[in-house]
Amino acid sequence: MEKVIIIRYCELYLKGKNRGFFERQFVVNMERALKGIRHEIRRQSGRYVIEGFDEVDISLILSKLGKVFGIHTLSVALRVRSDMGEIYNAAKQVSPAGGTFKVETHRADKTFPLNSMQISAQIGGRLLDDVKTLSVDVHNPEHVINIDVRENGTSLVFCQYIKGAGGMPVGSAGKGLLLISGGIDSPVAGHMIAKRGMSIDCVHFHSYPYTNMQAKEKVIDLAKILAQYTCGTTLHIIKVTHIQEEIHKKCNGEYMVTLLRRFMMRIAEKIANSCGAQCIITGESLGQVASQTIEGMTSSNAVIQTMPVLRPLCGFDKNEIIDRSKDIGTYETSILPYEDCCTVFLPKHPVTKPKMVDILAEEAKLDVSALVEEAMSTLEVVKL
Ligand code: ATP
Ligand code: MG
Repeated sequence: MEKVIIIRYCELYLKGKNRGFFERQFVVNMERALKGIRHEIRRQSGRYVIEGFDEVDISLILSKLGKVFGIHTLSVALRVRSDMGEIYNAAKQVSPAGGTFKVETHRADKTFPLNSMQISAQIGGRLLDDVKTLSVDVHNPEHVINIDVRENGTSLVFCQYIKGAGGMPVGSAGKGLLLISGGIDSPVAGHMIAKRGMSIDCVHFHSYPYTNMQAKEKVIDLAKILAQYTCGTTLHIIKVTHIQEEIHKKCNGEYMVTLLRRFMMRIAEKIANSCGAQCIITGESLGQVASQTIEGMTSSNAVIQTMPVLRPLCGFDKNEIIDRSKDIGTYETSILPYEDCCTVFLPKHPVTKPKMVDILAEEAKLDVSALVEEAMSTLEVVKL
């Protein structure tokens, strides 16, 4: 009797001709997640089976695979010879200590002497006799013991379905550049888009020495957590201190955030083009703060020439975003109290509905392209 892990995948089956491409990427991502852990991944009629691992590694393997997009559910199963005695022993091992149950059998091996109904009835009957705390309920059981009689002379027996991360394999839907701050929202936004199969690079803007080194470390930590889901990431770090000083010195203070956002977008687009990203992703949510109005978004979108800006959190409430950040494990880091560059020189009353003519008038006081070039020259790259 041997333990294996069954992996069922999500929407890959929808992808007609491209299926091979999706599946290859899926396997590459699972292999990457399990690097350094002894295992083998085998494809088996519409799903994958992981075998050849040490039993002590099971929880580690499950936690690593829990972050691989594309996995619908997983089960730890016992694999035995297709023999009723062995199948029964396995069923008894996976069966719950008590409660209602039924046995469900899938028989791929049509040469097996019993059909699936007969297998379920015999195994269920013996369990009922042996384990006095179990009772049968075929309509609404608390537990289902699954028996899968394979064509290769072995059977898989399992009782639990563990929910996977869902989504599509990262790397199957292009690449995006996430504007990552130290806050709660942007890591969640990156996670959501990665879940649909997109690879993610990150860019972070800081205003050292107005913001401190810990703020930067915090963002690196957040990007590291995100990288567990995104099969790694590259973090691009840019200093925008001089841009902010110039805005502060020369422009109406109410436009600080609006103008800074436009600089961030211009720089992000340049970085995206140089790293092969096809879109920009932000953690903005409609109406959440003064700069996240539709007018604010229109203003920052207007400087982007060549790609869309994805704002997956636009329709979410803060509470919903917080729940997600707790789920993905970024919340505790996000709430550490270090300042973001957006809070430096923050006006008391930022404009909430900036008009394009006024923005352009303020921006005309700055040498935009020189400031962008200068910021680009501060680029640091961290591979995670
Ligand atoms: P977050 O929780 O993601 O920081 P927030 O609610 O604090 O979001 P803002 O500070 O207005 O909102 O930022 C909106 C979005 O702009 C962020 O989600 C992020 O995508 C981007 N952003 C803000 N500050 C930075 C920064 N310092 N570096 C990179 N991107 C940033
Ligand atoms: Mg923020």
